[in-house]
Amino acid sequence: AKERGEGGYQRYRPGSEAPGAERRRITAALTAALERDELVLHYQPVVALPEGRLTGVEALVRWNHPERGLLGPGDFIPGAERTGMIVPLGRWVLREACRQAVAWTAELGDQAPGTMSVNASARQLQEASFAVDVAAVLAETGMDPRRLTIEITESTAVGGGATQESLRALRAMGVRLSLDDFGTGASTLSLLANCPVDQIKLDRSFAPVPGPDAIAGAVLQIARAMGVEAVAEGVETSAQAAKLGDLGYVRAQGFHFARPMSPEQIAAAISEPAES
Ligand code: C2E
Ligand code: CA
Ligand code: CA
Ligand code: CA
Repeated sequence: AKERGEGGYQRYRPGSEAPGAERRRITAALTAALERDELVLHYQPVVALPEGRLTGVEALVRWNHPERGLLGPGDFIPGAERTGMIVPLGRWVLREACRQAVAWTAELGDQAPGTMSVNASARQLQEASFAVDVAAVLAETGMDPRRLTIEITESTAVGGGATQESLRALRAMGVRLSLDDFGTGASTLSLLANCPVDQIKLDRSFAPVPGPDAIAGAVLQIARAMGVEAVAEGVETSAQAAKLGDLGYVRAQGFHFARPMSPEQIAAAISEPAES
């Protein structure tokens, strides 16, 4: 029997499809999605605390599936990673995000989101050509490298020689690096000491809870000691926003401020700020 599964492709009950067949099916579906231009980026504002002013956005990919509607990354990124399709998919995400950032600047001037954060998977950083591909996209779109932040997870950051070479090359180009989901990895502190990043994103599982709450504050102290920027993500309530502001956080992201939005919604929110 069929079940709805990852990627909006039909998933069969375990055992009923050979791994090779599954890989070919996912590869074909994602190749078609790229060819038909079915992927879209939504953008979630990153704001300055305490006032909530927009400072940048994070690009988050969705698949506008012709039959199944808008699929979130959890439905197809794991399959893209398993099959290697994350490489062309990620290249599309990077180019589209940079194109949009430059277009917003032309349209909105100083009001445009300053920074563009793009997620990259381990598999992409392992490509020897990753930094060269990024440089090509920056040149093609006219994007200022200093406005681009590449978000990687801790498990990506501990990757081998090709990964380390990619990270070094990106920073040499002026691209900023962010450690995503900070605090959830196995080797957080030794990693931070050894991996030159510009930003850490406090994982949303550490967003403040009512009552005494040490982790968000401790992570900010570590970030300061290491000279990296700290962003709190997954901020859902005004109480959390206030507490983070009191702790000294100056950057945050979360449903409390704004959900991921289409590019049109972002531009509208900037040019027609919500009445207060
Ligand atoms: P992430 O990088 O940690 O992105 C943040 C996720 O948290 C997004 O989910 C966002 O919608 C959600 N989020 C934001 N604020 C809140 C909040 O206040 N509360 C809660 N509960 N959630 C919040 P989304 O868009 O479903 O993305 C999930 C993950 O998929 C991302 O996690 C990232 O790891 C991955 N992803 C998204 N786009 C890309 C991409 O272009 N390339 C790669 N490689 N991975 C991507
Ligand atoms: Ca991220
Ligand atoms: Ca995250
Ligand atoms: Ca994540």
